[in-house]
Amino acid sequence: MSYKIFFSLVFFILAVALLGIYWLGPFTEVSFGFKERNYNFSLNSSNGEVSQFYPKMRFPTSSISYRIEDCPLNKKEDMERSFEFISEKTILGFYSVQNNEEIYVTCDSQSKIEGRLFIAGEGGPTNITQTSNFNVIKQGAITLIKESKCPIPNVGIHELLHVLGFDHSPNPNNIMYELSRCNQEISQDMIDTINNLYSTPSYADLSIENVSAVMHGKYLNTNLTIVNNGLKNSEISTIRIYADDEMVKEFEIEELEIGYGSKISLQNILVFQISIDELRFVISYDQQEINKEDNEIVLDIKK
Ligand SMILES: [Zn+2]
Repeated sequence: MSYKIFFSLVFFILAVALLGIYWLGPFTEVSFGFKERNYNFSLNSSNGEVSQFYPKMRFPTSSISYRIEDCPLNKKEDMERSFEFISEKTILGFYSVQNNEEIYVTCDSQSKIEGRLFIAGEGGPTNITQTSNFNVIKQGAITLIKESKCPIPNVGIHELLHVLGFDHSPNPNNIMYELSRCNQEISQDMIDTINNLYSTPSYADLSIENVSAVMHGKYLNTNLTIVNNGLKNSEISTIRIYADDEMVKEFEIEELEIGYGSKISLQNILVFQISIDELRFVISYDQQEINKEDNEIVLDIKK
């Protein structure tokens, strides 16, 4: 009966060898490439007579805080009427705070001259964070210099519109014209642009960027970046990596501020399948987002 033992032994050695090949091999290196990427989020800015300094500039929410400091009463009232004017015309609202304001307003009694012109005021965003959806204005500042002598507080409105991201208009009848006159008006395109920009809800928007992956035998090495392109700081989220339909890795991402990201590098993730066709990276986030479509990226084997 020794041939039985012999064949059992051969079979056993063969089984061990096959198991070894399964666990360790193949020793080839496999790289992955992009299969799809959803980055088609867009919002049409109107093509009116006044454009913004950068595309799609807005504050995180439509309710914006301000603080007025060192202003005489008449200028303070001008500024408050300016906030009221914009909130009546648009979906924006403004409220006064004691600190951590989004818009800081101050006054200067010293008349400033540029060229041969008196400067009525100065205003603009002071902190802008660029994301793939918006240029998010985190802070703005206004200095009121000349008192407005018009029925509507033109200077304050003009400077506030600068803070909201609007540039000058070439039309002398527009309130955003370089020189201030009492008969100037806010144009409908600005009102439409504001209402359009702020119609997007203030949610976070997590997306996966710059993914690369390499298989060394049965081990996966991968690099990826998770970015918050939203209008709100994100809470903790979970990332899952799937090899075909099998989950091979799961981990948490900390809270991310607007415009900030987290760079992740993972080494030696064991993948059990003999061969895989695609890797799927998925963000699981149970809060609302501006766009959920960029929460998944699929990589397929480069051929
Ligand atoms: Zn101006």
